[in-house]
Amino acid sequence: AEYTADVVVIGAGGAGMSAAITAAQAGKNVIVLEKTGSMGGNTILSGGAMNAVDDGSEVAKAHDDSVALHIQQTYEGGDEQGNLELVTILCEQAWDGVEWMKELGMGFTGEVFTVTGGLWPRAQRPSDPEGTGFFKAFQSYLDENTTVTMLYNTTANELLVDENGAVCGVKATGKTGNTVTVNATNGVVLATGGFARNVELREKANEETQLWPTLDESIPSTNASGITGDGIIMAEAVGANLIQMGNIQLLPLGDPETGSLSGNIEHAVESRIFVNEQGERFVNEGGRRDEMTLALFEQSNTTMFIVMDSDTYPTGEELNNFGETMNSLVEAGRAYKADTLEELAEQMGVPAETLTATIEEYNRHCVGGDLEGQEDEFGRTLFSDVEGENDGINDAPFYAAKRVPTVHHTMGGVEINANAEVLNANGEVIPGLFAAGEVTGGIHGTNRLGGNALTDIIVFGRIAGASAAEYTR
Ligand code: ADP
Repeated sequence: AEYTADVVVIGAGGAGMSAAITAAQAGKNVIVLEKTGSMGGNTILSGGAMNAVDDGSEVAKAHDDSVALHIQQTYEGGDEQGNLELVTILCEQAWDGVEWMKELGMGFTGEVFTVTGGLWPRAQRPSDPEGTGFFKAFQSYLDENTTVTMLYNTTANELLVDENGAVCGVKATGKTGNTVTVNATNGVVLATGGFARNVELREKANEETQLWPTLDESIPSTNASGITGDGIIMAEAVGANLIQMGNIQLLPLGDPETGSLSGNIEHAVESRIFVNEQGERFVNEGGRRDEMTLALFEQSNTTMFIVMDSDTYPTGEELNNFGETMNSLVEAGRAYKADTLEELAEQMGVPAETLTATIEEYNRHCVGGDLEGQEDEFGRTLFSDVEGENDGINDAPFYAAKRVPTVHHTMGGVEINANAEVLNANGEVIPGLFAAGEVTGGIHGTNRLGGNALTDIIVFGRIAGASAAEYTR
């Protein structure tokens, strides 16, 4: 089959859908090619937290937060390897991105929290679990506007280039193995996500930086199975520059069987600790994702437990960030629940005395403790701080869940400029080709702040969609 659209988007995750809808809002008709049978990608599997500061607002003031601090933490949190111009755009346009999602009908609770590795309470919490709220909003746009056509079960495998070297379309394979060609009158947006599920590519990339002891198949991933770097490979074939491919992010929060984020019981950084199989804490749980995960690699069986109390889950029927109730996880044997710390320790298989002592020491830093709010021996400064409500780990029932390292996000990829135009190795624009989201590289440096991926895909998805709509060959 052969189709023509003004703008062609490859990949229906958060970046692709943001680009597609932005191009449609600019009056273009759009075709989106998606490998799987539905939209969502990795975005829908994420916790959904989106960092964004409404500069000068009461909420920002209450947390001593600002766009400038968001920029600084993002840049320094990636060891200053990110492109500062892109980091600045990311943070400055984040709040606009939230407002845009709200206009599309998405709900946020209005609460800000610190997501793991987010370093600061600035994550907006969606009203719906995981990333589903984003896609409900995108779908409602599609229901009301006919100018975006979705081609599901269609895998792009080649970018088409015209006689002047401009990208002008995509060749893909449809469900029955048929060839699908989609021509673009305006631009093509690459939004195929990262390569965490491409073991060969991630191992090769890790050799460059050796950030991780290994990234072979023994390390699971949080990602959907189709996240294999297709877009990166296609872009490289038309001359795109790949940057910082070795910057790969792991989380210490994978399900021990599958590596997925499902079963992750934490709700916010402030209310939980990590302990190892000896019942001891081993890292600042409010710190960077790379530092926490590297510390986990040092623990026996590279295994830890998230531990918290009923402040987060008063009845056990509340949902975690992944749409699961605590009680259902306990019933399935994926989490532990007990009325005393001793019983919890027994279920976890860790020494009860050690676990109890660990928690007593931790509680000293929480509200009401003799070291309230003071930095602890691991450098942690984010503690539970709501009196009576979220005041340390001291209210039964207690909860724990086992977790392992898991490959989460690939920060390297296709190089782009501030207009989301793809660049070649000489820093020149490849005409007609735009990219956004995890397929791109060079924004987050060595370590992406938790909560910045949703920001990235909405902000740069919108930029890519607008640029592709404007472009003419
Ligand atoms: P981002 O967070 O950057 O938006 P996601 O992982 O959420 O990335 O989404 C990427 C989407 O791209 C997924 O839905 C994935 O199935 C899709 N995808 C990956 N490779 C291809 C391909 N070759 N053709 C079409 N879609 C693809």
